[in-house]
Amino acid sequence: MQSEFKSRRPDNMQEKKFKRTVEDFICEHCGAAVKGNGYTNHCPKCLWSKHVDKNPGDRAEKCGGMMRPVRIEQEGGKMMIVHECEKCGFVRRAELRRQDDPAEAIEVAKKADF
Ligand SMILES: [Zn+2]
Ligand SMILES: [Zn+2]
Repeated sequence: MQSEFKSRRPDNMQEKKFKRTVEDFICEHCGAAVKGNGYTNHCPKCLWSKHVDKNPGDRAEKCGGMMRPVRIEQEGGKMMIVHECEKCGFVRRAELRRQDDPAEAIEVAKKADF
């Protein structure tokens, strides 16, 4: 079930920023200092992400909403985290990485299973 009452495209500015952005950041959800490697788009501690990319790594999205890890899915032998933006409802999946906290992933999986 998805709510459609908010516009998902507040603007349509074209920005050509298809590059790998390496940056360290402070997780706005749990405050962990995250070492960026250019592919990290979520916090390895709490698994929350931020809606800043239109395409992975481009940082072209203006929304900036926090993206909640809503569930874990399996796809072709990979574990995927499903993130949902709290601000605009945008849903995106990201691969669960080795540095991600497995206990937190289990918590997400448990919470989704109700
Ligand atoms: Zn965090
Ligand atoms: Zn958003």
